[in-house]
Amino acid sequence: MTSQPTSPVIKNGSKDKPLPANSPDAVSNISAAAAQPLRDKPRDLRSLPAQFLVVVMATFLLFSSTAMAEWVGETEAHMGTEISVYLWHDDPAEAKQAVAAIFAEVARLDRLMSTYIEDSKMSEINRLAATQPVLAGEELFSLVQRSLDISRLTRGAFDITYDSIGRHYDFRAGLRPDASTLEQALPLIDYRHVTLDRSNGTIRFERAGVRINLGGIAKGYAVERGVEVARRFGVRHARVTAGGDTRLLGDRRGTPWMVGVQNPRDDSQVAVTIPLDNEAISTSGDYERFFEEDGERYHHIIVPSTGTPAGEVHSATVIGPDAVITDALSTSVFVMGVDQGLRLIASLPDYEGIVIDASGQMFYSSGLQAPE
Ligand code: ADP
Ligand code: MG
Repeated sequence: MTSQPTSPVIKNGSKDKPLPANSPDAVSNISAAAAQPLRDKPRDLRSLPAQFLVVVMATFLLFSSTAMAEWVGETEAHMGTEISVYLWHDDPAEAKQAVAAIFAEVARLDRLMSTYIEDSKMSEINRLAATQPVLAGEELFSLVQRSLDISRLTRGAFDITYDSIGRHYDFRAGLRPDASTLEQALPLIDYRHVTLDRSNGTIRFERAGVRINLGGIAKGYAVERGVEVARRFGVRHARVTAGGDTRLLGDRRGTPWMVGVQNPRDDSQVAVTIPLDNEAISTSGDYERFFEEDGERYHHIIVPSTGTPAGEVHSATVIGPDAVITDALSTSVFVMGVDQGLRLIASLPDYEGIVIDASGQMFYSSGLQAPE
């Protein structure tokens, strides 16, 4: 995702709904900070004319805070992708700490959920859950539970057991499962093979060979957590992005954030730009991780019923209040295609979607106004 004001701008109709209670208020931080020290002005200065003091101190504080406060932006590699944080804080030292804490949080989640890290909890579950219930820990348990909820909502288009076959793809090495592997492993893709025991907090697989992977939802969770960390630092304007998933906190100080949806076949071009605040936006594309073989593109979004990459669309974007949901839904809509995908979005009042099909045509959900 990039920001480019030159691309067509689409309006998000749902944006007019009232902001959530935790949204930033309109009071300027600077005037609040300037007012404070006047209450504890030093006694020995009392003899000076009060008006003079007020002006001097207000000018000093106003100058110091506006001169130092600025946008801080940083990018790091985590979760196999680029994580970028962009935020405003009136105190630059606090801003730095907030950014570091956000990256630390993302790194923590990666260590918990990665299937590439052998001693992650996720890897332990994949190793053992077919033979015994595995204690998942509250956080992982509830993200798996939310994944299964979305499987039911999407009638299996979203399915974290896709990895039972997905693990046989290696997009960097250009490897894919052969026909017999596909045939053997296909019955293992089914979210109903995953059993959660809420009272014990355990996860169990009903079949040997089942594998789960949170690649379609974990980045949404990570940016949601990232914004939560920012909030704890008093941040009221932030953008946290993990690959195709972005969570916005507040606005861009008086203007909306402009978020571009990439042209799926030209990464220098933005297909459409959307003004947003306090929302999440996720795009799933067939251009992120893929290889080509005999003119065929093999990419990372798998149709659970076939075990092969989804072919109907080039990208699917979902906008809404929760990045966990927009992430999982963008993957789902990609699998479901234009008609079914947009029908799903139409059934969810808080969510909007944009689908770009294989001919490059763009389709919007009804809450969005197409650019003029
Ligand atoms: P990214 O942000 O990595 O481009 P997406 O949100 O588009 O990711 O999700 C793609 C990832 O989701 C894949 O890399 C894989 O880990 C996982 N995935 C692929 N197919 C499915 C599916 N049908 N259901 C759930 N997860 C999937
Ligand atoms: Mg996704």
